[in-house]
Amino acid sequence: MIQLKGIAAASGISIGPVYKIGSEEFVVVRQAIKWEDIPAQIQLFEEALIKTRREIIELQKRISSDMGQEEAQIFDAHLLVLEDRMLIEEVISRLKKEQLNVAYVFSEVLKKYIGVFLKIEDEYLKERTADINDVGRRILRNLLGKERKGLEDIKEKAIIVAHDLSPSDTAAMHTKNVAAFVTDIGGKTSHTAIMAKSLEIPAVVGLETITAKVNPGDILIVDGIMGIVIIDPDEETLRIYHQKLEKLKGIAERFLSVKDLPAVTTDGRVVMISANIEFPDEVSSVKLHGSEGIGLYRTEFFYMNRKDSPSEEEHYQAYKYVAQAMEPHSVVIRTLDIGGDKFLSQFKIPYEMQPFLGWRAIRFCLARPDIFKLQLRAILRASVHGNLKLMYPMISGIDELRQANHLLDEAKKELKKKGLAFNDQIRVGVMIEVPSAAMTADILAKETDFFSIGTNDLIQYSLAVDRANEKVAYLYEPAHPAILRLVKNIIDAAHSAKIKVAMCGEMAGDPSLALILLGLGLDEFSMPPQIIPELKYIIRAVGFKAAQEFANEAMKLSTGVQVEEFAQNKLAEILK
Ligand code: PEP
Ligand code: MG
Repeated sequence: MIQLKGIAAASGISIGPVYKIGSEEFVVVRQAIKWEDIPAQIQLFEEALIKTRREIIELQKRISSDMGQEEAQIFDAHLLVLEDRMLIEEVISRLKKEQLNVAYVFSEVLKKYIGVFLKIEDEYLKERTADINDVGRRILRNLLGKERKGLEDIKEKAIIVAHDLSPSDTAAMHTKNVAAFVTDIGGKTSHTAIMAKSLEIPAVVGLETITAKVNPGDILIVDGIMGIVIIDPDEETLRIYHQKLEKLKGIAERFLSVKDLPAVTTDGRVVMISANIEFPDEVSSVKLHGSEGIGLYRTEFFYMNRKDSPSEEEHYQAYKYVAQAMEPHSVVIRTLDIGGDKFLSQFKIPYEMQPFLGWRAIRFCLARPDIFKLQLRAILRASVHGNLKLMYPMISGIDELRQANHLLDEAKKELKKKGLAFNDQIRVGVMIEVPSAAMTADILAKETDFFSIGTNDLIQYSLAVDRANEKVAYLYEPAHPAILRLVKNIIDAAHSAKIKVAMCGEMAGDPSLALILLGLGLDEFSMPPQIIPELKYIIRAVGFKAAQEFANEAMKLSTGVQVEEFAQNKLAEILK
């Protein structure tokens, strides 16, 4: 039995046999051709391009109707590769010069292109390598007259294991016999991860070596909740996971039955359960899962996968759409949080030794008021269309908050000057995700409308554990007493100043810790939409007084493991 930790790309648990997709290797023979065969070879190339184009458009249409436009747009990049004059001309000129068969020439040119792209230190262009590779293989397949062997052949429910999956592979999984998928590479923001969420099948990516460790038919457990994959599980593990699966199935129905009810404890304390989103079109899923608003709209994804920056109008349209779609519920838009592990090539942020401690989020925005104010103006303009709030990420102290608010005032003045409408009373919050902010929450609380605790970062900074480094992942403990004390300090400071506290880090969606957070007085829990029904269920099953007592007991424990165990036992009791 081997356990691998990767990145949880889509929630859920699956157990099943491995179906391995090798990276499709074509044997391309190098053949000399005669001068008079050149036109026929060029024609073959053109026909392959046309056929590939047709395939992609067809796929795009299917995805658009099955999954939505956002997903279908991924293929626009593929169509662009097909129109790349440089690539096409290089193939034709080398074909003429070297007098070799077109399939061979094309595969050589493709290799060269991919090699060049892989060397570039630029996230945007690196991501494009996958697109070029994907389209290139399609063209090559058509040049060689081969049919794609792949997902269509899966006869029984299986778990796909691949080094990487192209967006078209992932899209093809739709309605196929795919129980889950896992890959060596890929991050939370890869196209594949985005697709996985829409498909609602469990997925774990970024496992590094999984393809080398499994054989077809091996049994795998994919835990898309924890980002864990277990190869060849022993009987005890299988039993535990079958139990979890059964429980998940059984209680999913119980959870769903309360999804549209308020999150109110048995003794009447009401908390708010809201959702985290990255894209406007997630609103439908948010509503479907019974969310009472959007507690975190991460806007940096808006800047990704493009060479330019979104215009004020584009920002405005997106925020307006979300505001209107969620009305009367509130939507908290977080201003740009780049840096750390989220790079945007268009801003040319220099390489840093410690990007998480570097020029990120509000630090970047304060240094680039042009970019920051453009976004602020768009949020302000959209604020007349619904219940919008905004919040700043990575605030480390009161000075940064004041500077950000100063730029917000400037943005308001600019709009007034242009005669554009906005909500002057828009609520402005601070994300508490830096220990210095947590410790000075009382000072910050006096000058802000609400807090939202970003535990993903707060934990990494407080425990000195890189949130993305699998080697120290065992130290990344949300239940660590240090974290509980910080959270309590933040909530107490906020309540003394009569402002509300939300939590939008992953910890807010951890069912086992819900009771402690409730007991500490958290007002709002914001999480990925799929978890909402479960959280509501838990909160509705307990009393606030009991939760307070439980939190008090938890605060007396000395280690994260003890707290976690204590909380798990309690949760098991509730879900019995
Ligand atoms: C957090 O840090 O908890 C958070 C919600 O922000 P992000 O995960 O986008 O850094
Ligand atoms: Mg954060």
